[in-house]
Amino acid sequence: MKSYRKELWFNLKTRRGFVNITPEVEKCVRASGIKEGLVLVNAMHITASVFINDDESGLHADFERWLEKLAPEKPYSQYAHNTYEDNADAHLKRTIMGREVVVAVTEGKLDFGPWEQIFYGEFDGKRRKRVLVKVIGE
Ligand code: ZN
Repeated sequence: MKSYRKELWFNLKTRRGFVNITPEVEKCVRASGIKEGLVLVNAMHITASVFINDDESGLHADFERWLEKLAPEKPYSQYAHNTYEDNADAHLKRTIMGREVVVAVTEGKLDFGPWEQIFYGEFDGKRRKRVLVKVIGE
């Protein structure tokens, strides 16, 4: 079995944002030379997510509004976690949006359903953070 590992780095200028990382993951699959297998893509930080959904700006605005209803950023004092930090909402948002995705690799390509794209979800940005890509197979 072959395996390939790569870290993707991000530094969003905003506290929250979504980035379509499908092209970068496709690059990793090509570089791995793996034709049949699996790719795991996971956030390496507990205030960021990797998830699969539609690349549609209205939906992304809906995610932002929905997450702000579930876990509003402010007031910071509403969270027990916010003693030395102000990012409790980011931990909660990450938990809802998920840590990782796994996608089948078939004939050297990401084996997606209709409209599926892979996103990095940032909930406590303005600093360098990483995503791990691991491809295994033959
Ligand atoms: Zn924290």
